[in-house]
Amino acid sequence: MSNPHALIQADAITKIYQGKPAVDGVSFSTTKGEVTAILGPSGSGKSTFLRSLALLEPIDNGKILFEGELVGQRERRGKLVPASERQLAGDRENIGMLFQNFNLFPHMSVERNIMLALGVHKRGSIAENRDTALSMLQRVGLDGHASKYPSELSGGQQQRVAIARALVLKPKIMLFDEPTSALDPELVREVLRVMESLAEEGMTMIVVTHEVGFARNAASRVILFENGRIHEDLPPNRFFSPEASERTSAFLEHVL
Ligand code: ADP
Ligand code: MG
Repeated sequence: MSNPHALIQADAITKIYQGKPAVDGVSFSTTKGEVTAILGPSGSGKSTFLRSLALLEPIDNGKILFEGELVGQRERRGKLVPASERQLAGDRENIGMLFQNFNLFPHMSVERNIMLALGVHKRGSIAENRDTALSMLQRVGLDGHASKYPSELSGGQQQRVAIARALVLKPKIMLFDEPTSALDPELVREVLRVMESLAEEGMTMIVVTHEVGFARNAASRVILFENGRIHEDLPPNRFFSPEASERTSAFLEHVL
């Protein structure tokens, strides 16, 4: 069933690796402005689920709709087939994705890393793109760092550059895969703060994280992923309560 209010909707999606489902028939939808935190044990399929939603990997079954439109696949003679690279590029335009390891180009300044993202998508003149890059750097608290190279920045600063680089493309949803897991503990806060401010401004977000505090305070919905499936899906005040299943309680006990 298509949910007319969903920004992104997954219908029974499955992703198989070497004969085993990493994501096993998951249905999920999120509406504009919702912030979903995904928790779960290692190997439960969280990253695969996020990469599927980001259209970085073709799914083996099911379908994904963005604002009601089929993405990542097309219908041909009554069957769903993978979209072409060109169609995929268009489908991905609304979706920003952040990884654990920043993925900045080391030989380019911060400013050029961000401008490159704009250039690849052919938006605006060089002067306009520079302005956009600088204002986005300001937004993530890094004005004054434009001409530095990634190696001159802390991990927290690099991750904020990566967020700025994603934001300049004006995504309608941002997917984060353990954005603070590679950071020293003292640098986690500054990245979470930027993410919290994005959430407050109404960005739709799905965040795979081990930061239970973020899930509790910034998310509107918390999911426990387990064996490629959604095991629990509750607002934080209920997720972090005795109402949650025994499995969820056991998981939380383990991570807290
Ligand atoms: P999580 O992010 O929750 O730790 P993943 O989505 O990374 O889980 O992995 C889920 C399962 O899929 C694991 O068993 C993992 O080994 C497998 N898997 C993930 N990515 C690949 C891949 N590119 N090739 C083969 N197996 C993979
Ligand atoms: Mg993962």
